[in-house]
Amino acid sequence: MTLLLLNARIASESSPDLLSADILIRDGIITKVAPGLPDPGDARVIDCAGRILCPGFFDAHVHLREPGHEQKENIASGSEAANNGGITGLVMMPNTSPALDSGAAVTAVLESGRRHSRIPIFTSGCVSKNREGKEMAGIDGMRAAGVKMLTDDGDTTSNPSLLYRAMQYASEFGMFFASHCEVPELAGSRALNDGPTAYKLGIAGSPACAEEIIIDRDIRLAHASGAHIHIQHVSSKMGMETIRWWKSRGDVKVTAEVSPHHLLFTDEDIGDFDTHYKMNPPLRTKADNEALLEGLLDGTFDLIATDHAPHTPFEKSQDFISAPNGITGLDTAVVSLYHFFIKEGKFGWDTLVKKYSAEPRRLMSLPVSTIAAGQPADLILFNPDATSSFTKDFMKSKSHNTPFLNKTLEGRVELVVLGNEILLER
Ligand SMILES: [Zn+2]
Repeated sequence: MTLLLLNARIASESSPDLLSADILIRDGIITKVAPGLPDPGDARVIDCAGRILCPGFFDAHVHLREPGHEQKENIASGSEAANNGGITGLVMMPNTSPALDSGAAVTAVLESGRRHSRIPIFTSGCVSKNREGKEMAGIDGMRAAGVKMLTDDGDTTSNPSLLYRAMQYASEFGMFFASHCEVPELAGSRALNDGPTAYKLGIAGSPACAEEIIIDRDIRLAHASGAHIHIQHVSSKMGMETIRWWKSRGDVKVTAEVSPHHLLFTDEDIGDFDTHYKMNPPLRTKADNEALLEGLLDGTFDLIATDHAPHTPFEKSQDFISAPNGITGLDTAVVSLYHFFIKEGKFGWDTLVKKYSAEPRRLMSLPVSTIAAGQPADLILFNPDATSSFTKDFMKSKSHNTPFLNKTLEGRVELVVLGNEILLER
């Protein structure tokens, strides 16, 4: 296949300015990037005027529910939700059923990914067997199967001694650790931030310190063991400040992520107990939103990740305390980040490309996708003048538990090209 993309404006992580150029792609490789490219004759020509061309995005925190909860999502549906949202690679979390805690379990999902997904699927593996914090998982087997990230996500690795020993052991193989940070006894119901909203609604809130204590504990363990620690889905100002302080010391390898929902929403958004605003860690306050954005822009947060967490309508229609935590994100992330941040001038395309394409790939030791001659084609075309209406028909995830359900936002992913294939065209 030969593709000639005319009049594109190209986004990159290195500059807020968009580069105007035409792009020639032959057999999955970008062969030329320059203004005024002639039609080679055999090319399919796409006029990209007014659109923005970005490298494909990459999500380092995704729950695809396979194996065990395929009624919520599976690799086939979840990877199509990613593709639908302009995401061309992702990392699964291992809190499936059974949990991904051995080489055999990991090999099975990676094989399913090869068969059922049109984008590359990576997976993390558990730190402890069945995420119970009692025995170390089959780390060597998982390493042999290609796992780089170890996490008991969904919960904190409860036993710090086990985590410390796992860190000493696995770091020797170049693996790193990702932490869901929460003292469960302190987080309580896990439903809502501890504050005036929880008090008003009569729910025992989950204080931010339940998260911040473990952020500090796990970075300290990494500092002592020499491991690389990645802190997941940080929700609070002091959590961000804790990471910023550790990074400023310069003697521990720490990276961190923030989720679109923690940048955008607060506990007040739950209104009349809307479970589409229930996640763990919970939504906190406007001051936390602002601090998290500040942390994203100053480099405290290396990357954005959605924590895509599909649940069925039945589960999410339970009462607020009983409903499971989490919202979907793959179908909506890029458009919502455009709508609320880029369009509003809060950050530029370079920030989005850096935090949601380049850095997550670096975290996983993968080649960074760039739009330049000689690179494999991995790009999306984004129309800032069109809109996306997040109806059930539009979204490809099996689940629709998102605050954006039936809402219309500005921006639309119009084309996804990966290798020699057009994965999406609308
Ligand atoms: Zn988590």
